[in-house]
Amino acid sequence: MNIAEERIDRLHGLAREAAADGEFDRSREYVRLARRLAERNRCGLPKGLQRSACDACDVYLRPGRNARVRVHRGRVVVRCHDCGATKRHPVD
Ligand SMILES: [Zn+2]
Repeated sequence: MNIAEERIDRLHGLAREAAADGEFDRSREYVRLARRLAERNRCGLPKGLQRSACDACDVYLRPGRNARVRVHRGRVVVRCHDCGATKRHPVD
């Protein structure tokens, strides 16, 4: 892991904790910082964070807190309760 990846990993943890505490705006700040780092480093967001961040509003999605997760036709459908956007990815 290089330094950017380590920082992204730490931001991922902070974003998750902030969302758990109901601090959604704070979790957005961490997600946005992580996105910026990933872009600059050209490493892309790690899969776990990519799937947990809302593509529309950048909030960190915690099922049961600010997101609803369903499986529909073999795909995971995650709905963001903060902005109403849905994202889909394959089950793995
Ligand atoms: Zn959202």
